[in-house]
Amino acid sequence: MSSINNPPPHLYTSSELDRASHRRREAGWIAERLHDPASRVLPMFGLKVLADLEGDPALAWQAPTDIDGIGAMEPLFLGLQDGIAHFAVEVGGRDDGHLDYVEVRSIGRTVTRRDAGLAAYARALVHWRAKHLHCGACGKRTRPIDGGHARHCDGCGLDSFPRTDPAVIVLVSDGDRCVLGRSARIPAGIYSTLAGFMEPGESMEQTVAREVFEEVGIEVDNIRYRSSQPWPFPQSLMLGFQASARHQPLRLDPEEIEDARWFTREELLDPETRPVQLPNTDSIARYLIDEWLDGDV
Ligand SMILES: [Zn+2]
Repeated sequence: MSSINNPPPHLYTSSELDRASHRRREAGWIAERLHDPASRVLPMFGLKVLADLEGDPALAWQAPTDIDGIGAMEPLFLGLQDGIAHFAVEVGGRDDGHLDYVEVRSIGRTVTRRDAGLAAYARALVHWRAKHLHCGACGKRTRPIDGGHARHCDGCGLDSFPRTDPAVIVLVSDGDRCVLGRSARIPAGIYSTLAGFMEPGESMEQTVAREVFEEVGIEVDNIRYRSSQPWPFPQSLMLGFQASARHQPLRLDPEEIEDARWFTREELLDPETRPVQLPNTDSIARYLIDEWLDGDV
């Protein structure tokens, strides 16, 4: 397990943040932070974050005292960064000049790693909140508690908490070659690692074996966990693996996958002559491919 001094390498991880979960229940302390001009608030419009796009893109953090009526906007307490309280709040309509609301992934690689982690975290909470404004059991309107980290139903007493859906992502190789594929969902020309959601009652290793077999019809062994990446697009945690193929011929499931092929290391190493595009460098998919290309596994 990574310690705070040895953060995982992936983007969208808030590795320096003190989530200060013990303070979430202190409504008075939260209210004080919202009256402190030193606190920082990330305005959001839907799932988009406010950014300053002039020069090097940066998140457009605001002082809470600059946002009228913030207390009624159900601000979400993210935690303490360098001792300063950080929040996200859905406001909307405050873009002016070079400030604009943008998708987190459009700026993930150009803002600081710290801001990429905070923006991803805020996006995950806002997405969850939007889907839990009403109780899943009785249908009554819910209200935020614990700094926005839970929602309570006064009708039946149910508390709801933010959800994260675990998904496995795996690079399958036979040593010199690896399997990359594409679904109709990803942009044209890109070939990536195989991936899929865990089902109830499955271990991670079982999900890896099942997904690979379903998508490309091969059996794998030597399944090795590598690392994980929060992927709040909208609410996944990607669990990264390497695995070894037990045989070569692929049998594709057209329902799950548009195409998949074996690629040699030599074919993929040179970006100039690569026959396909690889996934974006902000993703654990790309990390797993690069790790294999570098011979680190
Ligand atoms: Zn209820």
